Amino acid sequence: MTVEASDRADGSWPRYYDSLTLFSPTRYSPLAGMTFPGGNPDRHPHRDEVVAYLTTYAARLDAHIRTDRRVTAVGRDDGAFEVGLEGGGRLAARAMVAAPDTFGRPHRPHRPHRPDLPA
Ligand SMILES: Cc1cc2nc3c(=O)[nH]c(=O)nc-3n(C[C@H](O)[C@H](O)[C@H](O)COP(=O)(O)OP(=O)(O)OC[C@H]3O[C@@H](n4cnc5c(N)ncnc54)[C@H](O)[C@@H]3O)c2cc1C
Repeated sequence: MTVEASDRADGSWPRYYDSLTLFSPTRYSPLAGMTFPGGNPDRHPHRDEVVAYLTTYAARLDAHIRTDRRVTAVGRDDGAFEVGLEGGGRLAARAMVAAPDTFGRPHRPHRPHRPDLPA
């Protein structure tokens, strides 16, 4: 089972800035088992194309993805992992992969000369 904090299963790409394109061309960008659409292997797809690709990929996966479930704690209990969820739910698992990446916690440097920017 996969638990995802947001309400969709396509990672951080929907929340990246809207002028973003992949820095890697499509020839190097496909995930296992699904080519990147668009033909030209040298082009750099726009963020929205990446989101569409990831959404389709997630829908094709034979995986149980539970959205709107934020993991708040992970512990061990008698050899198994115990995963705590926001709001109080718990899951038990024999194995676990944590892939939260860092986009949810951006580093914002101190900029006292720009009080108009977010802290
Ligand atoms: C601006 C930018 C441009 C990039 N451009 C490229 C590029 O051109 N080519 C390239 O290959 N890579 C690029 N990357 C890197 C690439 O986006 C990331 O490496 C990739 O998205 C990581 O995928 P991921 O699934 O590990 O993490 P993410 O896509 O960040 O997904 C992490 C998921 O974990 C969820 N999550 C976080 N915390 C919790 C929690 N506690 N409980 C449950 N769920 C949680 C989040 O909601 C999110 O959906 C770029 C990154 C950034 C920031």
